[in-house]
Amino acid sequence: MTRVLVWNEFRHEKKSDHPAATIYPKGIHGAIAEGLIENDKNFVVKTATLDDPEHGLTEAILNETDVLIWWGHMAHHEVQDDIVARVKKHVVERGMGLVVLHSGHFSKIFKSLMGTTCDLKWRESDDIERVWVIEPSHPIAAGVPQHFELPEEMYGERFDIPAPDNLVMVSWFTGGEVFRSGCCYHRGNGKVFYFRPGHESYPTYFDKNVRLVIANGVRWAAPHGLVRPTYGNHKSHERK
Ligand code: ZN
Repeated sequence: MTRVLVWNEFRHEKKSDHPAATIYPKGIHGAIAEGLIENDKNFVVKTATLDDPEHGLTEAILNETDVLIWWGHMAHHEVQDDIVARVKKHVVERGMGLVVLHSGHFSKIFKSLMGTTCDLKWRESDDIERVWVIEPSHPIAAGVPQHFELPEEMYGERFDIPAPDNLVMVSWFTGGEVFRSGCCYHRGNGKVFYFRPGHESYPTYFDKNVRLVIANGVRWAAPHGLVRPTYGNHKSHERK
């Protein structure tokens, strides 16, 4: 069993004149949760949103979370710093997995874990994204075709991130840009996976390949089998 919490700021979908309101009637988190349940019956999936008390990220809730999925865009600044610090502690110390999606590249939690600006180029038009799997034997690529296409917003390099521990996917866009779109990191005891697709004006989280990559990302980032290291004062093993 893997306990997954899908976190979404849930703002675009509440604006009746925004395409996201029609595309995601149950919220982006609702579509992501549905995709997880469809992919793995061992996932126990819950959701939380920005406007929940403590953003739905209380100590008790995080303690019962193996992997947190993060979608945010217009309200990154509204996420309280003390809650970001709490989430970071759960990743780095307890080994909670973190899957950061799309515009979550600018979330406080992702920037804090990366230590860079996480800035990039972007264009919202009528581009097609072609996602290429470049590490087919990585667990996150399991069952994913060599490439797949999505109508999407363009994100282009340079993406100001540290070099990923593993780069599993690269995207090409119809404007000619490229982007590191599937990035794996280890941070302390925790694993972090960044996956690019998921602009709110496109039905990306209903796509079967996107859903599979997110499910694989959760399975990879989950802390199963993690042995926590011991620290502090240590006696010599050798006799004097
Ligand atoms: Zn976007």
